[in-house]
Amino acid sequence: MNQIQINDTTLRDGEQAAGVAFTIDEKIAIAKFLDDIGVQELEIGIPAMGKQETEAISAINQLGLNAKLLGWNRATISDIAASLSCGLNRVHISVPVSEIQIAAKFQGRWRSMLERLRDTICFAVDHGLYVSVGGEDASRADETFLLDVALYAQDWGASRFRFCDTVGILDPFSTFNKVKALVDRSDIAIEMHTHNDLGLATANALAGIKAGATSVNTTVNGLGERAGNAALEEVVMGLKQVYHTPVGIDTSQLLSLSRVVSKASGSTVPPWKAIVGSNAFAHEAGIHGDGVLKNPKTYEPFSPEEVGWQRRLVAGKHSGKHLVANLLAQHGIILELEETQSVLNSVRDLSMQLKRSLTTEELLSLVPR
Ligand code: MN
Repeated sequence: MNQIQINDTTLRDGEQAAGVAFTIDEKIAIAKFLDDIGVQELEIGIPAMGKQETEAISAINQLGLNAKLLGWNRATISDIAASLSCGLNRVHISVPVSEIQIAAKFQGRWRSMLERLRDTICFAVDHGLYVSVGGEDASRADETFLLDVALYAQDWGASRFRFCDTVGILDPFSTFNKVKALVDRSDIAIEMHTHNDLGLATANALAGIKAGATSVNTTVNGLGERAGNAALEEVVMGLKQVYHTPVGIDTSQLLSLSRVVSKASGSTVPPWKAIVGSNAFAHEAGIHGDGVLKNPKTYEPFSPEEVGWQRRLVAGKHSGKHLVANLLAQHGIILELEETQSVLNSVRDLSMQLKRSLTTEELLSLVPR
């Protein structure tokens, strides 16, 4: 598999999620964290949005991070000028490529869209900028037209073309075919940008990579518009675990990073969220607890430490005697089989009352004195 580059857009598409607004300090902290763990490229905002956004972008640009920094732009000279004034040397230029989007944004005049794209790419290239071009709604675009746009972008001097499943309607098989067609017929590097409307963002991102895309957009926790984007932690661990392709990122920091972004975005991560949810390495059920105690590999895809977690065994409605006995033994309490069964009965009753698993204190309080 090709060398894959992560281009994280938590600070651009992530922040576009309804109800999310990062402060400058939060943006700086997130950018630093992403850079620290080895993310190679960051899309840090939309310079054309105005003063607060350009202040944040300039501030991040002045941190001297290792990561390459990218600003998001429409195909408008003034947008590129705003990116230049932030000191950025990479720009992403987005154009609609599906009929429905071109109708809404260019009154169906696809030739004017291409002219605007050409003019902005040339302006950016003339100013020494690295140019990435985004095919917005590429998933619903006519495939011949999409290829034309990618080839024009390449000819006019762009270095990368972003395949956007803007409304998250593809499956991994169609994604693979569409991206493969672009990879086979062009020389420009392809980047994946996928949304999670059908819960397939990560799967589609990986499918695009399998088809030859060499760069992928992610957001921490999958934060993003509507159902969100492909999650950084999922894409990185998917590449590592499924394709055995490490991307040079310190995965042991993924949980801490998730918590930083969760706090800044004011949105909690569901317990069952892949990689970073609080239940990702928690075991309550009797059969699972027993299996994990014998060999963690029975019910864990990889070790929790790999992503910054610790295994959690908890007592609750579905626990069995072995798990309860093991938890009690961790606190120096050894009971006879019959006593263990009676503690287990109480554990089940209490956890049904509370509708959750028990804390250590609650478990210990059930042990007869
Ligand atoms: Mn998007």
